[in-house]
Amino acid sequence: MYTNAVEMVEVSPRDGLQNEPALIPTEAKLDLIRQAIACGARRIEVTSFVNPRAVPQMADAEQVCEGIEPVEGVTYIGLVMNRRGAERAIATGKIGQLGAVSVSTDTFAMANQGQTSEGSVDAASQIIALAKHAGLTGQATIAASFGCPFEGEVSEDRILAMAEVLARAGAVEIGLADTIGVANPAHVARLVERVSKAISPLPVRVHFHNTRGTGLANVWAAIGAGARIVDASIGGLGGCPFAPGAAGNVATEDVVYMLERAEISTGLDLDRLIETNRWLAGIMQKELPAMVGKAGGFPQPQHNERKLP
Ligand code: ZN
Repeated sequence: MYTNAVEMVEVSPRDGLQNEPALIPTEAKLDLIRQAIACGARRIEVTSFVNPRAVPQMADAEQVCEGIEPVEGVTYIGLVMNRRGAERAIATGKIGQLGAVSVSTDTFAMANQGQTSEGSVDAASQIIALAKHAGLTGQATIAASFGCPFEGEVSEDRILAMAEVLARAGAVEIGLADTIGVANPAHVARLVERVSKAISPLPVRVHFHNTRGTGLANVWAAIGAGARIVDASIGGLGGCPFAPGAAGNVATEDVVYMLERAEISTGLDLDRLIETNRWLAGIMQKELPAMVGKAGGFPQPQHNERKLP
């Protein structure tokens, strides 16, 4: 069952930049956020409020929030792992939604957040409660929903059970994240359908990394199975510290190209995204993984004028 519109969440300022070894100046992050809005982004994960020693790239979370301007219809999302992070995000006065993360397996949860999987569900529930108390909304993402870098395959029943608890805790949506980029479209379709049914009418958001080239296929399968919100990162930046060599998020421009060509609207402007890709490549001083960023959209008006070889 295909919809005619999906909502995109732009995650480049957080997930995209988080694993870049060179520290990106705060002003460039603010530029990226402004350009994403100019492309049509309405929900943007702007930073994460984590221990700056663990993630130096996000040490300027407060400064980023100081620099962002409220824009009508735009929600700024801050990723938080615990009460301290939630309090920091709320104190900025700029964050409209807290993003909490629960991890599907104990080994990954211990490595990532120093707690069990169950502990990470409790922490996320507490974050959602803090968000609501402060007049914000809270959403939750289940990391490693499709596979764990330490424990391998992850039980679908476990993900379903976590999603139900997080939905009851008051999350406005549940995200299923393929943190290390191992998902395949059949698995995605099955799990998205099960979770969508279980948490209905709450929507399912999906978050894919293109580590093994299945990112776009997974997005397509997820939407067919009922997902209505897709995380993506301009240029396809990003990685995962627990998956050496892991590629970035699915690229916003690649997802937008695929969906708009399939008559599923995203609210984003492809030409502007491609311009933003080129600008970001200059900031990062490297070519970015996005395919459409390199090839351009289609049809292109200048093609008509070009002579065949
Ligand atoms: Zn990610």
